Amino acid sequence: MSSRFDCPACGGPLTLRAEGVSESLACPHCGAVLDAKDPRHQVLAKYRSKLGVTPKIPIGTRGTVRGDQLEVIGFQRRAVRYSGVIYSWDEYLLWNPYKGFRWMTESNGHWLLLKTVETKPKETPGG
Ligand SMILES: [Zn+2]
Repeated sequence: MSSRFDCPACGGPLTLRAEGVSESLACPHCGAVLDAKDPRHQVLAKYRSKLGVTPKIPIGTRGTVRGDQLEVIGFQRRAVRYSGVIYSWDEYLLWNPYKGFRWMTESNGHWLLLKTVETKPKETPGG
């Protein structure tokens, strides 16, 4: 479910995780965003800045969460500005080929496990 290759932009070693499901991957060495579906992994975009933050759980880590074996396959830091204050949190994308995706978020030491809903939420009148 994963394969190794060298980044076409910088030559750094990379591992493609959730192969066949991943649409793109970002090179942690140079910041290039690569096409995961293309066998030559063409560069889709280049960013000047590399990821300036180190995930608390390294990508590739496997573990059991609520009985499901999951692998960390992605990481992003997100932030919003509200009333002039920037609030940030970290999001880890977890994957199991039979169970699908989970998001685990961390903010100031508080962890949340999120599962994508499979149906569209229904609006309730007056709710
Ligand atoms: Zn690279």
